[in-house]
Amino acid sequence: MMTPEEIKRIEQIWEENMEHFGFGPISMKKQKVCKNCGNLSHADRQFCEECGHRLPRYTLFQIYRHMHTVCPHCDTVLSKNMLFCPKCSTQVKPVKEKQITN
Ligand SMILES: [Zn+2]
Ligand SMILES: [Zn+2]
Repeated sequence: MMTPEEIKRIEQIWEENMEHFGFGPISMKKQKVCKNCGNLSHADRQFCEECGHRLPRYTLFQIYRHMHTVCPHCDTVLSKNMLFCPKCSTQVKPVKEKQITN
């Protein structure tokens, strides 16, 4: 069994990687994805730089947020099985009661 500290560390690494590869909340808030060609544009843009298609109103983060669990406190995108936010340690899901039978 992993300790909560170990789990937290893994979640931190995961979150750092997400940010590193451009899919963390900070970078995602600055990006929009073109529905027509999939090109990423800056959130300030209204039209796709590649194809000129009108960009959605929502940033990548806002779309992602609809599809995933995010921390209500700091907006960090969480993986399904996270119980605590790796950034601010807010409990994001009720911890399932493990049946400890001795
Ligand atoms: Zn496009
Ligand atoms: Zn948080």
